[in-house]
Amino acid sequence: MKLALDEASKCIPIPTAFCVGCVIVVPVRSATGVEERVILSTGYSRELEGNTHAEANALTKAQDLTPAELGKFFPEGISSDGGVDLLLKEADVYTTLEPCSIRTSGLPACADALVGAKVRRCYIGVAEPDDFVICEGADKLKKSGVEVVWLKGLERECLGTARRQ
Ligand SMILES: [Zn+2]
Repeated sequence: MKLALDEASKCIPIPTAFCVGCVIVVPVRSATGVEERVILSTGYSRELEGNTHAEANALTKAQDLTPAELGKFFPEGISSDGGVDLLLKEADVYTTLEPCSIRTSGLPACADALVGAKVRRCYIGVAEPDDFVICEGADKLKKSGVEVVWLKGLERECLGTARRQ
């Protein structure tokens, strides 16, 4: 989550949206079965072209990895046939703010994108305050079978970074 906060601090603040950071972590097993947790991708608000969100950007960046880049996540002897979809199924997503459930811009919501990517678990730094919309992202994730973990201890930092001007 500290790394997700680092991502959030890269956002260029705007008055109409939050500054959010997201890190997607996946377990990588070597041929000998040793498991290591590595970063698949990162994202922050408005990082990519358009009015983009951190979680969607991290997903897009993961899905845009070239086969060669993806190969790093499949050590020798492990088939990479499943590609990024296989990795995302085991992914833990760390996001500084609750993934959005509705977007006033009409763009797809991050909660839907995470559900669509079939990620395993989502760690959330702090609930989205009602500054802009009522957020039901966590409920949406849970209902779709994504494990939601409310991380304790960084709420103030996550919220402060989100509301940064
Ligand atoms: Zn979003």
